[in-house]
Amino acid sequence: MSHSSAGPEHFHAQARSALGDPQLRQNFRGAMDYLQDKRKSAFFDPVEEAQLRDLSAAIRQRCLSKLPQLLEQLEANCTRNGIEVHWAENDKEANDIIASIAQRHNAKSIVKGKSMVSEEIELNHEMAKLGIECLESDMGEYIVQLDGDKPSHIIMPAIHKNKQEVSDTFALHLDDFEPTVDVDELIQTGRSHLRQKFHDADIGLSGVNFAVAETGTLCLVENEGNGRMCTTVPKVHIAITGIEKVVEFLADVPPLFNVLTRSATGQAVTTYFNMISSPRKNGELDGPLEVHLVLLDNGRSQAYQDEEMRKTLQCIRCGACMNHCPVYTRVGGHAYGTVYPGPIGQIISPHIMGLEKTKDLVTASSLCGACGEVCPVRIPIPEMLQRLRTHAKNPPKADIMPLKGQASGASTLESWVMKGFVLAATSPKIYHSATWSLSKLNAFMPNHIGPWTQCRTSPKPADKTLHQLIKIRHKKKSDKP
Ligand code: SF4
Repeated sequence: MSHSSAGPEHFHAQARSALGDPQLRQNFRGAMDYLQDKRKSAFFDPVEEAQLRDLSAAIRQRCLSKLPQLLEQLEANCTRNGIEVHWAENDKEANDIIASIAQRHNAKSIVKGKSMVSEEIELNHEMAKLGIECLESDMGEYIVQLDGDKPSHIIMPAIHKNKQEVSDTFALHLDDFEPTVDVDELIQTGRSHLRQKFHDADIGLSGVNFAVAETGTLCLVENEGNGRMCTTVPKVHIAITGIEKVVEFLADVPPLFNVLTRSATGQAVTTYFNMISSPRKNGELDGPLEVHLVLLDNGRSQAYQDEEMRKTLQCIRCGACMNHCPVYTRVGGHAYGTVYPGPIGQIISPHIMGLEKTKDLVTASSLCGACGEVCPVRIPIPEMLQRLRTHAKNPPKADIMPLKGQASGASTLESWVMKGFVLAATSPKIYHSATWSLSKLNAFMPNHIGPWTQCRTSPKPADKTLHQLIKIRHKKKSDKP
């Protein structure tokens, strides 16, 4: 069954619908409780955890502070290693680059490792228009692709499904499948269907976890071996990544890998850690003959230009913030209608899609701070959400670069109310008469004031203003003998 949503503009309706689906909520709660426990046991020493998070945050901040230079260095070193580097300003340019590589090779099929950036540019959809089939090889992505669905989590794309639902999906789409809820058998079924596809694919496509500027190396973190198959079996490998994934030194990778795996799945290390530094060399028996790297901006440089917003780009896509978010754990990933759901999605999507589409998402947080507390690179997500909320409602100030879609959520009524409040609060005469009038209107105050009173009691003005109460108290004191 497809859970795909109509986009972030419909967040409220999608969230309501998710809350009304008890099976979905049970699947998410079970999975999220499990992941929270796994993370907790992986960081058993709070002192070490704090040190690691400080170190990782410092590495990411240093790398981002030199982003333009590091990207140039990465390009130079990749090119020296024989990797062809391409720059894409937006999703269209990225798809055009990949299409032209595919067409040059007369490719009809692309086998993909997990890549959220390829979801971001809607690669499968765009390639299908050209008659090129993209096949997902990550088990979770494979399941959601069979369903005609979209990932609901950045690490575990099919986390919204339980094993019975996976079995139902296989039974519906795979001819020779004997229904079972044995997880090993389910995995084995998926694997055996994918094996021949790796062999037949013209192109392998992957994401990138870390791109090392110093050496021109692309690092890929995974557990299933499908990433290694995609990057070694087909004759052409295309890696696609956001520009923020660059790190300065090879020595920056181990600490980030350490916090990534522990935050994401509670693992000390993953089963596979791939380092790709070049196409197949003379005398080597396997590996692609061509390697391409596509570096995608797609709104990231907007975040980069603002020192506070730049912290968004520190993200290493571990998913811990969503696993701990009280909103995400109740409504799940599809409700957000964005490629990146949960807290990280709420702060990166406005740069990718504009605030006009995502202004509801930035309000979808209790600001409890759980996301910021678990983020391994210490991104202050709640503070950034508050700032994005302000930008969604207010026009840009002269000295700050406007965000895409800024002020698209501005309400004339709200703005007049706030202006009125400022006027009243700064003018004693108006303030006194306004509070006096309000104290007389108590009986006429409505019990419901739109969505405000959905979870709050309607405000009731006191019978007497503070000034009146103080006057009465003084009078009583002076009346005393
Ligand atoms: S914002 Fe932090 S916790 Fe969330 S995915 Fe990124 S690195 Fe992980």
